[in-house]
Amino acid sequence: MLFNNVLGQSQAKHILGQALSQSRLSHAYLFYGPESIGKKLLAVEFAKALNCLSPEMEEACGTCDSCRKIDDRIHPDFFFVEPTKSTPTAREAALKIEAIRELQKKLGFLPYQGKVKVAVIDQVEKMNPQACNAFLKTLEEPPSSTILILITSNIYQLLPTLISRCQGIKFNPLPPEAIRQILESQDEEKLNPAEIDLRVGRAKGQVSRALSDEATQTSSYRPAMIDLIGQVSFKRMDLLFQWSKAMAKGGEPLSQILEELLGLLRDLTFIKSGGSPDQLFNRDLMAQLEPVARKKSLPHLLKMTEAVNQTQYALSGNANAQLALETMLLDFCEAA
Ligand SMILES: [Zn+2]
Repeated sequence: MLFNNVLGQSQAKHILGQALSQSRLSHAYLFYGPESIGKKLLAVEFAKALNCLSPEMEEACGTCDSCRKIDDRIHPDFFFVEPTKSTPTAREAALKIEAIRELQKKLGFLPYQGKVKVAVIDQVEKMNPQACNAFLKTLEEPPSSTILILITSNIYQLLPTLISRCQGIKFNPLPPEAIRQILESQDEEKLNPAEIDLRVGRAKGQVSRALSDEATQTSSYRPAMIDLIGQVSFKRMDLLFQWSKAMAKGGEPLSQILEELLGLLRDLTFIKSGGSPDQLFNRDLMAQLEPVARKKSLPHLLKMTEAVNQTQYALSGNANAQLALETMLLDFCEAA
């Protein structure tokens, strides 16, 4: 298989491999799928394959001058654009029109060294409207010998006109074996087997989640959350107020707590629908999850999931944390 450096993503690799071997390349690709599953990595590997000086069976050699320069981001025909913050303290990074104009200028020239110019635009959903307008012109009239690779983890935020001008390539969360392989190959910090198991289960197929300590930081809250899901009802409103107050005042980021809750509800739904235990995010808590899954109905579990999603949305605005959590748990009571 081509692109051996990239784990998983066999479908994406197959499509790009075919395009290379048949020399039927699109002028623009849109790589989409969750964060941290190999989109950027495959974009770089594809750029290397396109410009490699001694390719073998369409595969980049990885060692020639061109491959090394692309790896080091110093190849004159390889451009990587990503959102930047206007000031170090700015909340959101954006892809601004200046960056797009500069890229357009560079794409106006013939390739210096390579066969084609390759531009990778990461987090393309962060383009502001002016930048997007300018960029649409490039997509409509693509410069010669140029391949554009747009990357997004949120395709729903993109303009349909932008999506329709690219060949879309879908990326999927990585399978547990791939996450395990990545965790086991970490040199800096050797993880023990139990920790690896826990992280594989909780990664949701995303490398950054598997590597981040944040994802394990709130794991100790899970047993109490399973109790809460199982017990909260109009007869046990005390649990509702207790938990909401504790979480709103506790030091943990609420986004992480809600992710945790979603993971548990997903597992309960999964058990309820007869899914295999080794696919659970919280496999280590199977014994505690099972009785709760038996007690709840599928529509109730889905209603709770919906309530958590709504709370995430409310908290991304300016909602009062404790109030938002209480409202969410009232929905849980209705589903009890
Ligand atoms: Zn090479």
